Amino acid sequence: MVGKIQNSASTDVNLRHVPQVNVSRTDNGQSAPKTIGETPPQKLSLSQIGQLALLFDKNGKISRLQRKLNKIKGKKCQVTPAKGTIACVDGNDLVFLGVEFLEEFQDQEDILLGVMAHEWGHACADRPQTEDIEGLNWDQIFELRKSHEVLADEISGRMLALLGYPLENYLKFIRSFLSNTHNLKYHDNETRAQIVSAGYNDEVRKLKLATELFKTDGYKGYHVSKLIDDDV
Ligand SMILES: [Zn+2]
Repeated sequence: MVGKIQNSASTDVNLRHVPQVNVSRTDNGQSAPKTIGETPPQKLSLSQIGQLALLFDKNGKISRLQRKLNKIKGKKCQVTPAKGTIACVDGNDLVFLGVEFLEEFQDQEDILLGVMAHEWGHACADRPQTEDIEGLNWDQIFELRKSHEVLADEISGRMLALLGYPLENYLKFIRSFLSNTHNLKYHDNETRAQIVSAGYNDEVRKLKLATELFKTDGYKGYHVSKLIDDDV
């Protein structure tokens, strides 16, 4: 696909996680349960996506990035090609990657990683229980969703740094290729780019400090960082 990825009413192609707020009604007219999610996109099989299937081979780019992210985040996320999304993840840690996105960015591994790491960020976040969500009003639900997006963006920056990728292309992708949605759900693209940068720079700072602290004992990369990470 050439040019910008456009947003549309029917297809939210922004980086997103667990799906649109569910405001649908059941057949008997009752409100469906509130969720912080959206309806997952349509999965595609590898036989439906032509040459892009190579990305999902054992040694394909997507599979390698999947293994790295699972290892570094202690997850077992699976990945599937999908239609009508850039990327999202469902409640079972299945990450959907849009074929239009893959078609355009398959050669830019740093962008693939940034987008995938964003979804791993969602997969690692604490998800509220259904009964807890029912107790929230819509403002609170949107606030919750926005905070999840901030976390996922921050983690995407951190993962790029930890895995030794440059930041610039991914920032350009956020600023130039995503539709600019400053709404209840997302911060505007510039704010998102700054959140990603903050995560990246924070991790670079910790890596640098750790390298200074552990000059000769052989710790490398994220192992170094993890030793001094607040989360550990
Ligand atoms: Zn998201």
